[in-house]
Amino acid sequence: MSSFFAPLAPPKRLLFGPGPSLVAPRVYEAMGKSIVGHLDPFFFQINQEIRTGLQAAFGTANAFTMAISGTGSAGMEAAISNFVEPGSKFVVFANGFFCDRMAEMGRRQGATVVRFDAPWGESFDEAAAAEFIRREKPNTVAFVHGETSTGVFTSGEAICAAAHEVGALTIADCVTSLGTMPINLDATGIDIAYSCTQKGLSCPPGLSPISCSPLAMERLKARTSVNHSWYLDLKLLAEYYEGSHRYHHTAPISMFYALREGLGLVLEEGVEARFARHKANHETFVEGLSALGMELLVLPGKRMWALHTPKVPAGVNDLDVRKKLMERHGIEIQGGFGPLAGQVFRIGLMGEGSTAANVDLLLGAIREALT
Ligand SMILES: *Cc1c(COP(=O)(O)O)cnc(C)c1O
Repeated sequence: MSSFFAPLAPPKRLLFGPGPSLVAPRVYEAMGKSIVGHLDPFFFQINQEIRTGLQAAFGTANAFTMAISGTGSAGMEAAISNFVEPGSKFVVFANGFFCDRMAEMGRRQGATVVRFDAPWGESFDEAAAAEFIRREKPNTVAFVHGETSTGVFTSGEAICAAAHEVGALTIADCVTSLGTMPINLDATGIDIAYSCTQKGLSCPPGLSPISCSPLAMERLKARTSVNHSWYLDLKLLAEYYEGSHRYHHTAPISMFYALREGLGLVLEEGVEARFARHKANHETFVEGLSALGMELLVLPGKRMWALHTPKVPAGVNDLDVRKKLMERHGIEIQGGFGPLAGQVFRIGLMGEGSTAANVDLLLGAIREALT
């Protein structure tokens, strides 16, 4: 017997970019197990487990916590198509690439999008942000919790408090923060949060965790305008996942297995211990970068723990460095883009990848590539 294709042999890559990140071996194993049907009780049991894991990682008691088929952008579009109605006012806090994507999705839903901009790499002045919300009185407010294009972390308390004062719902993009930093959804006042599987949760891309507060679910029930998206209509998805289990679409079963295992790792380590691990490795990495003469774009206190944006040193070509890392070590990192093109590296230490050994490996490889 001859086969047309040789057996699949992907190159070995060390994924230390902004995602996808390294996949846990246990996750790969789970993905090779036999699938069940998308209406099988076993599938819904897996979903229960996924809910428990996601509630812990998000820091929420929200009953409506689940995973949507599709990558992080599907979660973003689910949040916006369900909670930003045509003709409504949508305030977007914009300091990077993914905030712009949210604004564009809002525009496509027919909302009036009002932006509060900060330069890429900077965070928002809290008093000014709150004042802006009080003045604009939007229906929905969105911000990015961990901006992977810049490395900026926005905790969101001030934004959420002001939004709730004017009766607005809050949406937070937690795509890179889930599983790497505390989000504390309920305490922060985030009504709708979404994420992905391929960054902090050490799974391949394919699902988008989402969590909605009771207030958000109340608003959704009361909504009379039709969601233009059928696939991402949370009312329909709720009937499939939560209610009568009526067929909506064929869920990608193997990805649900993967996420279940990824979250199993989170629960076994303990969320607090996992966050502390990311923080400790982040701090050692930042010290090491500064010893190499590399300054960080983002000020201390505003930095994500899973994604680092050191400035490219003067006289160094970022493409050359990235090429050397890939050719010599199979290490993938990324450069900046948009206003940060050529100015920063984007280096991820996420989930499985955030280890002391990887910090040493990266620092050694970067030192070598710079000289
Ligand atoms: C990666 C990312 C997304 C988009 O997710 P995809 O899985 O690429 O669709 C959205 N927001 C942030 C902050 C991200 O880092």
